[in-house]
Amino acid sequence: MKICTLSSGSKGNCTYVESGGAAVLIDQGLSLRELERRALEVGLDLKKVRLIAVTHEHTDHIKGVQAFCDKYGVQAFISPLSAANAYEKYAVTSCVPTSVSGFDTGISVGEMYLTPFRVHHDAAYTVGYQIEDGKKTLCLATDLGYVTAGAGKRMSKADAVLLESNHDVYMLEHGKYPRYLKQRIAGNNGHLSNDSAADVGVKLVQAGVKRLILGHLSQDNNTPQAAYNTVCAAMTAAHIRQGKDVVVEVAHQFQPSMLTEII
Ligand SMILES: [Zn+2]
Ligand SMILES: [Zn+2]
Repeated sequence: MKICTLSSGSKGNCTYVESGGAAVLIDQGLSLRELERRALEVGLDLKKVRLIAVTHEHTDHIKGVQAFCDKYGVQAFISPLSAANAYEKYAVTSCVPTSVSGFDTGISVGEMYLTPFRVHHDAAYTVGYQIEDGKKTLCLATDLGYVTAGAGKRMSKADAVLLESNHDVYMLEHGKYPRYLKQRIAGNNGHLSNDSAADVGVKLVQAGVKRLILGHLSQDNNTPQAAYNTVCAAMTAAHIRQGKDVVVEVAHQFQPSMLTEII
């Protein structure tokens, strides 16, 4: 299984995951033109994409879903509650027909099986995804106020995890955002801080996760260095060797990653 983070953060999210000859996009919050530009830069073949799995209906995750579905002839996999909101707000219609129970059981795409798991966030219904291909397991969880026991359990069984590391607590507290927005971000239905990502990250590595990709970093209340340093400091304090026991990476907003194998 291979992963490429094409964009990560509040200005647009899109991750490409490939196994065998098939690929999925997790969210599509970029314009079609920008997605295609980045895919070309990395050397991805977007014709391999069979499905867009949507985490929730916020605009940074769904803005480009319809345009991609129309051009590439694929459908979106989305919870019924998010689909209803997406249809109302963003005219996204290319959804795989689901029922509430049907959505939770997941969907197969080529050799991959995608299972959504619920996370706490302030959309109608927000999920992370577990992707298995019989060899490796990847979990993606961004846009979550905190990590529930259920989400933590799923992520702890993965080989690689893309986990939110949204804000530095000090930068958020002393930044320019209005009080209500600071409370929303820091709340249980908001976004995961670097400190929380570090705590969770240590537990995940102790459970066997070998690769941790930090994502959905705030442009205003975080820096890639702050997120990376906070998580690596917690790893060191727990006697986890960066580069040996785990590889920690940061997914960027404006720069796609390379397409890399999950090992
Ligand atoms: Zn988001
Ligand atoms: Zn969101």
